[in-house]
Amino acid sequence: MTFDTISAISTALVASGVAVIRISGDDSLKIAKEMFAPAGKTPVENFEPNKMYVGQINADGFSDHGMCVYFKGPKSFTGEDVVEFHSHGGVAIAKGILRKILSLGARLANNGEFTKRAFMNGKLSLSSAEGLIDMINSESVSGVKAGFYLYREKLTNEITAMQDLITDALAEIDADMDFPEEDLQIKSTINVKNALIEVTQKVDKLKSTYRLGRTLKDGVKVGIVGKPNTGKSSLLNALLNYEKAIVSDIAGTTRDIVEGNIDIDGVRFYFSDTAGIRESDDKIEEIGVSLSKRILKESDVILLVIDGSDFCAEDQKIYDIVKGENLIVAQNKLDKNGQRLEIADVCISALQKKNLEQLKQLLVQKTVGAGIDLNGDFLCEERHYFALDRANQKFKQALENLDIVPLDILSIDIKDGWDALGEISGKTATEDIINNIFSKFCVGK
Ligand code: GDP
Repeated sequence: MTFDTISAISTALVASGVAVIRISGDDSLKIAKEMFAPAGKTPVENFEPNKMYVGQINADGFSDHGMCVYFKGPKSFTGEDVVEFHSHGGVAIAKGILRKILSLGARLANNGEFTKRAFMNGKLSLSSAEGLIDMINSESVSGVKAGFYLYREKLTNEITAMQDLITDALAEIDADMDFPEEDLQIKSTINVKNALIEVTQKVDKLKSTYRLGRTLKDGVKVGIVGKPNTGKSSLLNALLNYEKAIVSDIAGTTRDIVEGNIDIDGVRFYFSDTAGIRESDDKIEEIGVSLSKRILKESDVILLVIDGSDFCAEDQKIYDIVKGENLIVAQNKLDKNGQRLEIADVCISALQKKNLEQLKQLLVQKTVGAGIDLNGDFLCEERHYFALDRANQKFKQALENLDIVPLDILSIDIKDGWDALGEISGKTATEDIINNIFSKFCVGK
């Protein structure tokens, strides 16, 4: 496919070491020739692909000393001719270079347009593009790995293999219609059945990784609760390793939700220390219930902090409200009282930073599971999950009706399932789905 020539600043618009301004399209090299004066003897039109050339970048009203690289299509990210200028990373510099490129005939790229072109030119699948955006947006190692799984086409390859099995099954049905002998029909019914069983099992297996994949991609939300003065802010500080929350021994000093995040075993944990339960003693239950409902809804795990040296009915009340599968009870102030309370999962001292590692491991165990292999294959995109779900509904329906409905009628369901699978790689994705995905990208990617 051929498109017009586009350009954008590919690096963040902040003062930095280097900025990259990218051009993609047939006129890329022509534009580079107009504005780049190489320091060496090779003129721009003779630039060897994939090689960096030093020289002067003549921007809009000024020049910079930088580098230029040419990627010859189709061996480029977009599949088209691409040129990149690597300039000094000043905002005015990058903008001036971009303005010059635009004045020479390129159009400003839309969000994700470079990647969209790569998709349209068959350089990557839709799920690979989604993996790329996941990687860019991820703040944790686990999120980057989840994105990389998609980006490297591992999911697309699995889906394609499933589609191939279905394609074979559909071919058998077609052949049956051409030669409708009885014994051939029985044989192809068995083959279609086997293919459907294999694919539905594979789809179910993939679907079962979704919850965990989502957690690895988005991180874990931890709601810290507890009555005033148990040491919640101190714990948050100790975990984050800096004084973010206000620590005070006057109960109720910290009123806002104080937040922070850390990575544990490569997974991001987002903590919020809620102040609502501190508001008033007599209203404790009412406020506690509404607050805990919100926290329970929004958090993946609740961390109840109790003071081992001052456990009372109020703590018990909060415990009764928040107790459940996703609760961890941390008994704090171990330095004051070493006696473990029955409800405690772990005894810590926020002040002396004791047993915090134990608490962190407990958080991992409760949420992603101990010893999780981040290199495993996890489904992490809701869109993929629902496409697989729709595909399996169709395949399972076909399986149920296999002995009742004629094969050629069944093939309609099977084909629908095949189409649903194809949405993941993009083979059968609608224009709306495609546009929606690329609109989430930043300009320049
Ligand atoms: P919050 O109201 O639950 O957020 O509690 P804070 O973090 O503000 O702590 C209340 C008081 O308990 C402060 O004086 C802290 O220094 C103290 N504190 C917190 N953790 C510990 C601990 O592990 N041991 C002891 N002895 N005091 C602690």
